[in-house]
Amino acid sequence: MSHVIRLALAMHIPACARALKLPLTLDELAAAGFAPATLPNSRSAAEGTGQVVAITFDDGPHPEGTPQVLEVLAEHGATATFFLVGEQVVKRPELAQRIVQEGHAVALHGYRHIAHPSRSRKQMLEDFDRGTAAIEDATGVTPRLHRPPYGVYSPASLRIARERGLQPLLWASWGRDWRKLATPEDITARVVSHLRAGDVILLHDADFYSAVRSHRRTAAALPMILRMLQSAELATVAYA
Ligand SMILES: [Zn+2]
Repeated sequence: MSHVIRLALAMHIPACARALKLPLTLDELAAAGFAPATLPNSRSAAEGTGQVVAITFDDGPHPEGTPQVLEVLAEHGATATFFLVGEQVVKRPELAQRIVQEGHAVALHGYRHIAHPSRSRKQMLEDFDRGTAAIEDATGVTPRLHRPPYGVYSPASLRIARERGLQPLLWASWGRDWRKLATPEDITARVVSHLRAGDVILLHDADFYSAVRSHRRTAAALPMILRMLQSAELATVAYA
């Protein structure tokens, strides 16, 4: 199905797409007003003295990537939002706890990192609830934001997210840092080009579901990104 037709259908979601059992990308949800890519208060932040962006990290916690990223954030006095995967949280709850203790926000990326359209409603119900419980057990925080693996919902999973009171969150800027050929320099360039106050930035602090050791390139890019934010007088917020 062409992108234009899918987009047109997405404008009438969830009912229309649900009837046709279409997968729903976050882009389509954003077009329909369901998944913001910028901070809801970005206009007031931009008008005030402090301009902000939200850095988000997907796919952790990771035994090497998450501590590396946390250390860089701490060195720069920056905060971020971590979209955690439940199956990783249960393996290392102390890292999820450390994220919160260091002043960052946690959000739900799912229990398993499997594309929603390939899963049944029953599987998705279990995934949302197990993922939320894993984060709550490890951190004491109930996530309010959700981002599906690969940025794609199924009609059933979008309905579940809404039933659970979870807000889908998109991004305005990404480093495409999951790729094998990404370098710290081009991750940085992609993130900062066209960046505006209020934007949500997508990065990954784990290589569980992407190119091997991709988190090392993200961690190497992060000091450059933070220095550029600093020189653009953009502060970071832990959006939750
Ligand atoms: Zn992911």
